[in-house]
Amino acid sequence: MFDDLRDLYQEVIFDHNRNPRNFRVMDDANRQVEGFNPLCGDRLTLFLKIEDGVINDASFQGQGCAISTASVSLMTEIIKGKTEAEAETLFTQFHDMTTGKSEDIQLEAIGKLAVLAGVREYPARVKCATLAWHTLDAALKNQAQSISTE
Ligand code: ZN
Repeated sequence: MFDDLRDLYQEVIFDHNRNPRNFRVMDDANRQVEGFNPLCGDRLTLFLKIEDGVINDASFQGQGCAISTASVSLMTEIIKGKTEAEAETLFTQFHDMTTGKSEDIQLEAIGKLAVLAGVREYPARVKCATLAWHTLDAALKNQAQSISTE
């Protein structure tokens, strides 16, 4: 597993795994969803504060591998200040990028998330990278309290 991962570990992933951003419980969150990736054992709880259709705050708690932690850490940074519609668009773009559905990656739009594009070469790791985003999707739709990638 570590041989496969070596190529994925880029500076940004290391950094976010070592110092996850927005790693805290949010007491005044109005959306809270738990995400679980049984394939790897990644678990996270995503907290959002959405006001007037805008994600004013995002944070998470949980434990997972470096890729899942870096992915959710990056995501909480990126979605803050975005509208719900903008966040849904990012989810779609990120999903298409990591699953290889879209060759035409809009690097400008997804910015730092592009560092996770390498997971598409490793199908077993894709769910580690997309777990945060599926959890976000559930939180935005406000329909489920927990999701699983399997
Ligand atoms: Zn994982």
